[in-house]
Amino acid sequence: MQEMPKIIAILIAFMSLRKPVDFVVKPLFAGLFMCLFAFGAEFYLHGEFLIDFVDLVLVTMVASLPFSGIIFLVVTYLDRLQERLAMMALTDPLTQLPNRRAFLDWTTRVLSRIDAAEQGVLMLIDADRFKSVNDNWGHAVGDLCLQRVAERLTTELRPFDVVGRYGGEEFVVFLPGVSMEVAYEVGTRLCRPIRIEPEQPPGRISLTLSIGAALVHYGDPLPDVLVQADTALYRAKANGRARVEIWDGGPLRPSAAA
Ligand code: GH3
Ligand code: MG
Ligand code: MG
Repeated sequence: MQEMPKIIAILIAFMSLRKPVDFVVKPLFAGLFMCLFAFGAEFYLHGEFLIDFVDLVLVTMVASLPFSGIIFLVVTYLDRLQERLAMMALTDPLTQLPNRRAFLDWTTRVLSRIDAAEQGVLMLIDADRFKSVNDNWGHAVGDLCLQRVAERLTTELRPFDVVGRYGGEEFVVFLPGVSMEVAYEVGTRLCRPIRIEPEQPPGRISLTLSIGAALVHYGDPLPDVLVQADTALYRAKANGRARVEIWDGGPLRPSAAA
């Protein structure tokens, strides 16, 4: 029974500890709170103060600090662990790009926002003849090529453009606030052959990308736009690869894009 005030104070401290600054501030508050609580409980249980208030304050504060510190460390550790697991669930391990789920979540959020940039362009990007890269050079070199594609995308685009690995040798990009003319130029830059020189086996690879682009008006359902971009991508492949094609409003290709 006498431990109750301490337990409640620790519980409250536990619930409120979240950030590194808590390490300093929260234990002090927890200690203080505990003192007040213990002081109140003393009075409630006995109708009078059986021990000196100052002693009680000192003892409870000293006792609470190490407790709160340990609790802080545990909570911080669990917080970081949770953050890391969430990060891992959203990041493609090979390229370190956001994965499909992260891309879709993020872009959906951007599209649902009403702001000055009322349109953007979504691009589906597919590495050309990638199967033959794997067949001729091996899977490890194929992986290296995918990392280079990711580098190309991240270095060519603006920091606030959204880039993701859509799956396999497919990537996806959302350029907020740009016109199709600008996006076409950007896409043409992205399509430039990527030169890769693997060490094992040694040699040179020139990898190209095909891109299907679709204009997005904010509020458009993302799955619809993905199918439009996929239709354009299909045309880019059919027209010879290493190029950008724009969805022209024509019939949509039945697709598993979304
Ligand atoms: P296209 O120009 O028509 O796109 O031809 P493609 O060969 O790129 O298309 P296809 O879909 O036939 O082949 C895609 C290949 O990408 C097959 C698959 O093994 C390879 N691939 C998918 N994911 C990975 C990966 O993570 N690493 C490696 N090395 N290869 C991958
Ligand atoms: Mg593909
Ligand atoms: Mg391909």
